[in-house]
Amino acid sequence: MTDTRTAPTAEGTATAEVVEHWIDGAPVPGESDRTGPVYNPARGVEQRRVRFATTADVDAAVQAAARAFPMWRDTSIAKRQQVMFAFRELLNARSDELAAILTSEHGKVLGDAAGEISRGLEVVELACAMPAYTKGEYSENVSTGIDVYTLRQPLGVVGVISPFNFPAMVPMWFFPLAIAAGNTVVLKPSEKDPSASIWLARLMQEAGLPDGVLNVVHGDKVAVDALLEHPAVRSISFVGSTPIAQYIYATATANGKRVQALGGAKNHMLVLPDADLDLAADAAVNAGFGSAGERCMAISAVVAVDSIADELVAKISERMSRLRTGDGTRGCDMGPLITREHRDKVAGYLDVAASDGASVVVDGRDPDVDGEPDGFWMGPTLIDRVPTSSAVYRDEIFGPVLSVVRVDGYEEGLDLINSSRYGNGTAIFTNDGGAARRFQREVTVGMVGINVPIPVPVAYHSFGGWKDSLFGDAKAYGPRGFDFFTQEKAITSRWLDPSHGGLNLGFPQHD
Ligand code: NAD
Repeated sequence: MTDTRTAPTAEGTATAEVVEHWIDGAPVPGESDRTGPVYNPARGVEQRRVRFATTADVDAAVQAAARAFPMWRDTSIAKRQQVMFAFRELLNARSDELAAILTSEHGKVLGDAAGEISRGLEVVELACAMPAYTKGEYSENVSTGIDVYTLRQPLGVVGVISPFNFPAMVPMWFFPLAIAAGNTVVLKPSEKDPSASIWLARLMQEAGLPDGVLNVVHGDKVAVDALLEHPAVRSISFVGSTPIAQYIYATATANGKRVQALGGAKNHMLVLPDADLDLAADAAVNAGFGSAGERCMAISAVVAVDSIADELVAKISERMSRLRTGDGTRGCDMGPLITREHRDKVAGYLDVAASDGASVVVDGRDPDVDGEPDGFWMGPTLIDRVPTSSAVYRDEIFGPVLSVVRVDGYEEGLDLINSSRYGNGTAIFTNDGGAARRFQREVTVGMVGINVPIPVPVAYHSFGGWKDSLFGDAKAYGPRGFDFFTQEKAITSRWLDPSHGGLNLGFPQHD
């Protein structure tokens, strides 16, 4: 997982393992002495460091990808598919190793890590079906003796920049489709949990991927900017917070690249009075506190119609009392947050809630944990009667904090959801098919659940939000993913025919 070169620890007293870049099929330390900490969040300790790339290191990765591109583009579809099938088999067989890495560096519990991997695996399986998605079209005899057909061809070197919260799944939203379609990739994973990407790159090599087709560089803004500005990088696929997504979109498009930049979220769950409240309470707890709320599709605001709000809040808080927070290797329900700084920021929202007049129903600041005391712990938290003017409602908190906002009825709930700047996911809980159908038509959100709280589409549909949750017009994976990683070429052809028409300087017309 790591390589042997070392770097000073934060204290400067000893040396630590360093996660290095992966360029041209081998670990590469690069030229930088800058490194960052990689924590074990459940223990609250720095377990290794990660190398931060310079502009020259990123250039080396892009050059490796550019060298590999002509060979990979010209590799037959059958051979590219064989690599993806082999990767799928290896990943399936060894997913426990990857889950252990995710739990160790991210903190999510092992069961959730396995779920993340299985959703990434789905996209690998979709990549195996690449030929069906990238076929061209053919029209015979569009004009006498002339045929028109289209090809979908790879872009070249593509860049992927991913967030900390899904260190395996989000890279797998992109690189399997990009590679299956004949592109070569430079991936810049989150510096907070970088080892999963290296593990995946090694596994791709084991599956038969030629060196240089998938490269990984680690780092911060320096590495990201180098990718955004590199002339040989044809596209950027980004997933992260909204302010950074906006920056990525603006910078990469200004540099002439194709861009899909998926941003942050604030997902609402509207509960109507006729809903099954036990189902709704289960869903709110599962989607609010799974992965400690560090999911872009987490439910963070329950919008409850007033007449059932007291009963729903009681059912949610009763279920919360049964959740076990702790070390992800010990069978707990919920792990720690990613860093101490993030944990403290999330905990700070309870003070905001109190001063904004909301009522704290369950306070998770001092949880009873099954784990080491220095872990970055924050227990499940429930805040009722949250004013929509409060930062608790408006900000993407990205932690185990569930807000309840009370509304008079469907219309007020819909208006609230539609006035959010974000439009990633939403859900409605009701037994009224007419209300659900109206909601799916009227809500301005990219992914909608009906009695389903985390409506992440399966791999053969595409994933992405609206408004400030997605910049660019291409969603991730599914048919839109293949479109993003290919460019269409239209060919008009005529083979020698004695009936050709001779000289004619007019604009081509059909006969
Ligand atoms: P982040 O925006 O801090 O980081 C994402 C990536 O951008 C990382 O690789 C990071 O190194 C890089 N980065 C950070 N600061 C940068 C800067 N100033 N300039 C250039 N690059 C920079 O996000 P995160 O904290 O890693 O992840 C959580 C966020 O990601 C949340 O907002 C969450 O909603 C979002 N997210 C969205 C989706 C989605 O599909 N819409 C999925 C997962 C996560």
